[in-house]
Amino acid sequence: EIAQLAWLTNEKTISNDGQDYTVVGNIGNVEEANDVIRNGGEGIGLFRTEFLFMGRKQLPSEQEQFEAYKAVLQALNGKPVVVRTLDIGGDKELPYLKLSKEMNPFLGFRGIRFCLGEQSILRKQLRALIRASAFGKLKIMFPMVAVIEEFRQGKAMFEEEKNKLIEEGVKVGDIGLGMMVEIPSTALMIESFAKEVDFFSIGTNDLIQYTLAADRLNEQVSYLYQPYHPAILRLIQKVINAAHKEGKEVAICGDMAGNEVAIPLLVGMGLDEFSVHSSSIIKTRAHIRQLSKKEIEKMLDDLLSLPNAVEIGDALEKFSYKRN
Ligand code: PEP
Ligand code: MG
Repeated sequence: EIAQLAWLTNEKTISNDGQDYTVVGNIGNVEEANDVIRNGGEGIGLFRTEFLFMGRKQLPSEQEQFEAYKAVLQALNGKPVVVRTLDIGGDKELPYLKLSKEMNPFLGFRGIRFCLGEQSILRKQLRALIRASAFGKLKIMFPMVAVIEEFRQGKAMFEEEKNKLIEEGVKVGDIGLGMMVEIPSTALMIESFAKEVDFFSIGTNDLIQYTLAADRLNEQVSYLYQPYHPAILRLIQKVINAAHKEGKEVAICGDMAGNEVAIPLLVGMGLDEFSVHSSSIIKTRAHIRQLSKKEIEKMLDDLLSLPNAVEIGDALEKFSYKRN
């Protein structure tokens, strides 16, 4: 199947009715950037930098980080690269930091909360990123933002480090500053974020877990982990509509972006960017190219009025079936 689709590697991602979309890749290290390019990714939609910090005995230095970010930007050769600042905590631990055990790690000191608490770590990462920005098209985003003050604090730190580096004579590129939408409070307040934030990437893996209050790793509650629950779909639609009103783009970098059943719905909602594993890039592009946004748009209101995930899932399956 993949071999038959190989011709799509360097094609654009345009729907059947002429709407533009973008398919980009998720990576965790420098080598995976090459997989994304090989598979026709139009950029990197999520570089999970945690992996530069894991499986070692101490924090990576600014220079080590700089080399990694520079290598990814160079591999992408001018295509956009969205780097997420350290999202440690939750299920991802750094033993060498000797953090205290938490009762509810997923509700605790993770993502931007950790970075605003341990500012020297975030500042070092931002410096490494800003220095690397001269080597490609860099965008930076913060994970796990719950309230606007967190974004503002992160942005202030970014501006400070950028200005210091410019004074030091470092060449700095144009850097977009965005955030993940993966906490319901953020999705519900998206209008105010959209005025200040350059771009959004919806982390559906966490958004589902926090909206339905179901630990994404706990099998006993996995029945509540429902990507097609109307609560999730309405949040996604709200984010897209509010961001577009302010002229800002929205991506999804959670697993839902590569979910075959969900893709028609996301196309209909006008999601700008699908960030998926490199092995799903071509498939996702092929799928989008067969869909008509206008046709799906007509069904959206009815779909989102259904009461539960089962009925929405059934309707979507039927739609996919009819299409094939
Ligand atoms: C997400 O939450 O959907 C996401 C992409 O981030 P992570 O899976 O790294 O938490
Ligand atoms: Mg997440």
